[in-house]
Amino acid sequence: MRIITIIFLILSSILAAIILFLPEPDGFPILEYHQVTNEPLDPDFEIYNVPPADFAAQLDYLQSEGYTTITLQDFMRVVHGKGNLPDKPIVLTFDDGYEDNFSEMFPILKAHDMKAVLYVITNQIGQKNYLKLNQLKVMQQYGIEIGSHTSDHLDLTTLDAHTQRRQLRESKTFLEWSGLDTIYSLSYPNGAFNSDLVEILKEENYLTAVTGEASLNTLKTNPYELYRVHIRKPRFGLTEFKFRLFKAEFFAKIRNFFRSND
Ligand SMILES: [Zn+2]
Repeated sequence: MRIITIIFLILSSILAAIILFLPEPDGFPILEYHQVTNEPLDPDFEIYNVPPADFAAQLDYLQSEGYTTITLQDFMRVVHGKGNLPDKPIVLTFDDGYEDNFSEMFPILKAHDMKAVLYVITNQIGQKNYLKLNQLKVMQQYGIEIGSHTSDHLDLTTLDAHTQRRQLRESKTFLEWSGLDTIYSLSYPNGAFNSDLVEILKEENYLTAVTGEASLNTLKTNPYELYRVHIRKPRFGLTEFKFRLFKAEFFAKIRNFFRSND
């Protein structure tokens, strides 16, 4: 047998063992959505788009499985000792601030009596196909948490410290001065972050930030490095959605495995 085959067999056995025998990981998933529409803005980015019918089916499934949606402010209240998390918490997040989040996603969310967190690029607000301020206010009043996705959606890790701070501060104050409640959460553009950014976020009075790395979150997870699993346009319906939830669990198992062997 070739050495490659042997290595492959060993690695797949280890993976199988991780899946089958490691204990169920604690923690809850945060889902990352973008557009909810039948007409994606850019066909090249179609994978970032979930059709409304699929989205509704996903929420039906979460409800039937006993999940309760929370916001990241709900999460932080529990981190600070106020109250408890529900039995099966889950966070639905939406990046970039597309208008279909109001016209398509919001009615479906309301019909399921669920909450979400919405991250807007503040210099896009009111532009064609993007959310308007009054739509953000209506959604915040309903119970959707509004967060910042920075002013311009630049990769923060490529910017100097001064520009990083401006992107974080100006997007937050713009929303607050426009009449929205205090903004506490950030979504890193392209999921790119580092420890310097976390320090700036603390100084700028952000309490949470979400990345693009898959895993589950617990009360011990660094609130500035929260894990998310990306929900793409499904090719295999609900099966694919269940697989995405499983992906978060699988990565949590692997992370726990390596942590306990530190
Ligand atoms: Zn984005």
